[in-house]
Amino acid sequence: MQKVKIPRTVDPAKAAQKRLDYDGIIQLSLLKRLNESVSGVKRDAHVSLSFGMDEQQLVVISGKANIEVDLECQRCNELFAHECEVEFTYTPYYSEQSEQDAPDEYDLVDLNEYGEVDLIQLVEDEFILNLPQVAMHDEADCSVNSDNLVFGELPEEVLEDKPNPFDVLKSLKK
Ligand SMILES: [Zn+2]
Repeated sequence: MQKVKIPRTVDPAKAAQKRLDYDGIIQLSLLKRLNESVSGVKRDAHVSLSFGMDEQQLVVISGKANIEVDLECQRCNELFAHECEVEFTYTPYYSEQSEQDAPDEYDLVDLNEYGEVDLIQLVEDEFILNLPQVAMHDEADCSVNSDNLVFGELPEEVLEDKPNPFDVLKSLKK
């Protein structure tokens, strides 16, 4: 089955009246800001979105999305794959009133000049906000094992294994 592309912008009030649902992808080429925040985006985002009205007659955009990115481990500097999974509930910001009416569990999303929501920006913001603040392998997977971390002096075998540059000169003279 071919995956549909999520539309870039949608009029949330109209979509809510029609109770539209979207299940599709956002191509990774459209996620430029996310790409700048990580070491690499590995695939398209899978996104499902539902538009509707709640009991208060507020427009509600709820959805889920996931994507896979490469992050750089802050302990060993190697890349590792990270699956970013987000879930969100938004209501459009029409006026200060919408901010007062919105229950705490809703986030507010700004509309563009045409009264539409930029869905790609919304999903991308969610991914960026949900990236780990300090990217790190699980301890078991990290090549820098905390047991092997040595503070201060180098272990002796490391010093012995290191070739002495004068030895190289000596062998050249022979
Ligand atoms: Zn690591």
